[in-house]
Amino acid sequence: MLDVLRRIVQEVNEARNLDAALSTMVRRIRKAMRTDVCSFYLYDVELERLVLMETIGLYARAVKHVRLPLGEGLVGLVGQREEPLNLEDAPAHPHFRYFEETGEERFSSFLGVPIIHQRRMLGVLVVQQQDKRRYDEGDEAFLVTMAAQLGGVLAHALATGALTRPVSADGQAVFIGVAASPGMVIGDAVVIAPPADLDSVPDLIPTDIDFEIARLKEAILKVRDELRSTGERLASRISAQELALFEVYQQMLSEAALGQEVEKRIREGQWAPGALADVVRRHVQYLERVDDNYLRERAADVRDLGRRVLAHLQEESAETPTTYPDRTILVGDEISVATLGEVPRGKLAGLVSIRGSSTSHVAILARAMGVPTVLGMVDLPLTRLNGARVILDGHRGRLFVRPTEELGQHYQSLIAEEDALSEVLEHEQDLPSETPDGHVMPLMVNTGLAVDAVASLKTRVSGVGLYRTEVPFMITERFPGEQEQTRLYRDQLESFAPLPVVMRTLDIGGDKDLPYFPIEEANPFLGWRGIRVTLDHPEVLMVQLRAMLRASHGLDNLQILLPMITNVEEVDSALRLIDRAQAELAEEGFEVGRPRIGVMIEVPATLFQLGALAERVDFFSVGSNDLTQYLLAVDRNNPRVAELYNPCHPGVLSALARLAEETSALSVPTSVCGELAGDPAGALLLMGMGFDTLSMNAPSLPRVRAAIRRVSLPAAQELVKETLSLDTPTKVRAHLVARLTEWQLAHLLPPTD
Ligand code: PEP
Ligand code: MG
Repeated sequence: MLDVLRRIVQEVNEARNLDAALSTMVRRIRKAMRTDVCSFYLYDVELERLVLMETIGLYARAVKHVRLPLGEGLVGLVGQREEPLNLEDAPAHPHFRYFEETGEERFSSFLGVPIIHQRRMLGVLVVQQQDKRRYDEGDEAFLVTMAAQLGGVLAHALATGALTRPVSADGQAVFIGVAASPGMVIGDAVVIAPPADLDSVPDLIPTDIDFEIARLKEAILKVRDELRSTGERLASRISAQELALFEVYQQMLSEAALGQEVEKRIREGQWAPGALADVVRRHVQYLERVDDNYLRERAADVRDLGRRVLAHLQEESAETPTTYPDRTILVGDEISVATLGEVPRGKLAGLVSIRGSSTSHVAILARAMGVPTVLGMVDLPLTRLNGARVILDGHRGRLFVRPTEELGQHYQSLIAEEDALSEVLEHEQDLPSETPDGHVMPLMVNTGLAVDAVASLKTRVSGVGLYRTEVPFMITERFPGEQEQTRLYRDQLESFAPLPVVMRTLDIGGDKDLPYFPIEEANPFLGWRGIRVTLDHPEVLMVQLRAMLRASHGLDNLQILLPMITNVEEVDSALRLIDRAQAELAEEGFEVGRPRIGVMIEVPATLFQLGALAERVDFFSVGSNDLTQYLLAVDRNNPRVAELYNPCHPGVLSALARLAEETSALSVPTSVCGELAGDPAGALLLMGMGFDTLSMNAPSLPRVRAAIRRVSLPAAQELVKETLSLDTPTKVRAHLVARLTEWQLAHLLPPTD
């Protein structure tokens, strides 16, 4: 059963044309369930009707003509209740409605299940049978599972417009994701395909067909050579039968087979990687469908060979750098920090990816760079976007592909308004961050990228509240050595001296991998992260601590911050290493004073050990990003649960308020360096709670400063009190918006619909 299910979903998924996919879907389901009818009804949001889109078994003339509002007829009932309906005698049901054009009076049994994707009912899948047959539990389970799997495929088709409207007559399509870095931009999409991924190769029209064919032949030749030498190497170790497989691979790649077909496709107007992907997909699809185990296994071989050839094709194209338009909107399955670095400075105007969420690290970097970003766009058709004109709305999490002129003009004016606001705010950036009643709320900046160390910031902030040292580690090809790190840290410390710079020890793990130190785990955010990694690798931590201390020589503005602390023993071990680094340097003639040392409060358990931690360190820094993720048990990186990730959850806010109270009772200076501090409403709440400092990305400073300069401390304290009495994140958000509107500060909040 599972096998059939998997194959149907795969077939539907791989069909390039949606009509074909729907037709395959109903035919295959009918066959698998040995039933008379299978139909699919799509819910049309504008018509507010379920429309029969495809059927096998009912009269074809009924397609697109049968339309039911929710609650009407059996199909409408399934759509409305969003649950399966299984009837032995359908015409006897009070909701049964007869449509002459379907010819359905002939059928008595009915089983309908809703297709739901991300809580949205997209349509209804129905099977029917002439004789009275109660579909059994197995049938129902099969159809429910089928519908659940098809949800994603259909949502994708709807979003791309392949299924029905959302694409207007002029070709505009809209995709929705998670708003990850604010701002709006109109630009051109540049799709980056992950290496050797046949499913993400974009369609491109070749400029030089002969060149494409030549490079294809060369890539195939390289793979044949590789296979030959692998075969020779393995000859003495594997059986003759296994060795014969290498011969089969050679034949598959030969001119007469795969090679010739791909060449034909290139001549039809597809570049080499796209042509290869098309042909491989077709073969795989065919092989996976046949009821023969041997041939089905060959599908995996074809895919593997395709990937090998593609890898060589991509190797080559990597040598010719892609040209980036002036306003490049980088689009990919996943965008790494390294990829960001490849786009020439000044040309990167926006980021879009299928994976990731608003607090994933690429989002944090994008915010630091002020680049509008939308992540978690799970329905994005990567292969069809390259070169398209797009509008990216980083406030609302939208991407408009090939926008209409009207929409383009609308966005032009929104962008102009935003620019005007930035200009106005700019005038007060050199004024103190002080409330109208004289309460000083020190603002600091989060850094990590070289671009952050801009001189203008120094006069506007009280220092660096969080220097994420892992960022420079992510763009090198190996652990940077002590000298190299010393130079990097010295740059930071000197740029901001005499202001303090809080340097966090390496915080890798979670979603921050180093290319040369991969960590593969089932639950990376609950695994080997931050201090857990560096205490297990004292050789790495010691080099870093020594470099930090050496860099601070004569400046004395270094503060060291320990990430992901769970136990006080971890603090004790880290302190011992800091002592040791200091002693070693003293022996080498470098006398450096002991820096102030702090702990990040981001693992919930530390909330209950503040006293013990306060005895050991000089300050706390609240990582509200991770604290939120761990308090709510919501992966900050998972788009499926992005809606649940909310630092304005009453549970998180009350934990923060209590934390502020306790740390001030303990007289431990405490700052907040997570994203909440960079949100004007969040910043006012944190100020009202009594935190000592707020640290944020540079682009967030103007709005936060503007908010603080207009709201008195008692008003912010009142806001905290009111907010803490609310019991849902929605009510909290609404209340914050209402108050800020009343204070005429709504323009500082990110625009939403
Ligand atoms: C946090 O968790 O809030 C934090 C500032 O650290 P990072 O986002 O780098 O994990
Ligand atoms: Mg953190």
